[in-house]
Amino acid sequence: MDDTDREALDAIRASRHLMVLTGAGVSRESGVPTFRGKDGLWNRYDPMELANIEALRRDPLTVWKWYNWRRSLIHKAEPNPGHYAIADLEAHKAPGFLLVTQNVDGLHRRAGSRSLVEVHGDIFREICTRCGTSREAYDVYPEDLLPPRCDACNGLMKPGVVMFGEPLPREAMERTVAFMEIADLLLLVGTSAVVYPIASIPFEIKGRGGMIIEVNPDETPVSPIADVVIRGPAGGVLPALVGDLARDG
Ligand code: NAD
Ligand code: ZN
Repeated sequence: MDDTDREALDAIRASRHLMVLTGAGVSRESGVPTFRGKDGLWNRYDPMELANIEALRRDPLTVWKWYNWRRSLIHKAEPNPGHYAIADLEAHKAPGFLLVTQNVDGLHRRAGSRSLVEVHGDIFREICTRCGTSREAYDVYPEDLLPPRCDACNGLMKPGVVMFGEPLPREAMERTVAFMEIADLLLLVGTSAVVYPIASIPFEIKGRGGMIIEVNPDETPVSPIADVVIRGPAGGVLPALVGDLARDG
């Protein structure tokens, strides 16, 4: 264990209210592409055109084909050691623990995380744009069934994720903000931390005197204010860290 790991461990042990904030990077080792970065989804597709509520209204077929393709990638994916380590961390730190994820892939849930807020929704849910009925659809559609329609009113369904041009779900935000206000430590994993309002969380916690540990192979806008920076992939770094936590009591 080097000094950086030791510092991170001490901070995790000392914290009374630990928030873990994750992004697409934590799922990369499960084979789910990130949005930005080298092999990011956005290099080939324009997010503003696809993950956009106006685009869904204008061209539902194209938007749904894209979400269907993303579902097919996520469908095949399994949680990786990084997801499991975060679930173990919750077992050590609960009840002073909350995991906030921007991921819509459900992999944290499948790894056993329970104190979990999925602020950007769940790609396998869908909601009727006309009557608001929602359902779970844990599958990939044959293309001739796209775009999916509501069983109740035949309205257009939208993927259960937050699209550009939409607010974040109120309950998820309320839970996140309430915990943010008492958090004394933020473990930031695999997020470029540029999508607002979530991107403001590290600055809020730091501004209230809390500490920040960042786990990311690359620099992010939060790196300059982080107290401890661990440069590496979540699936390698987190199991080692949480393993040490368990070993040393
Ligand atoms: P992002 O693509 O902007 O950033 C990914 C970050 O992960 C980068 O900083 C990168 O350096 C880092 N990273 C890459 N590999 C990593 C690894 N192995 N371990 C740790 N970090 C690694 O993703 P973001 O910050 O989550 O952007 C937010 C938006 O992306 C959200 O709206 C979210 O809904 C969406 N998104 C979700 C998924 C998913 O559900 N899996 C996939 C793509 C995008
Ligand atoms: Zn409906």
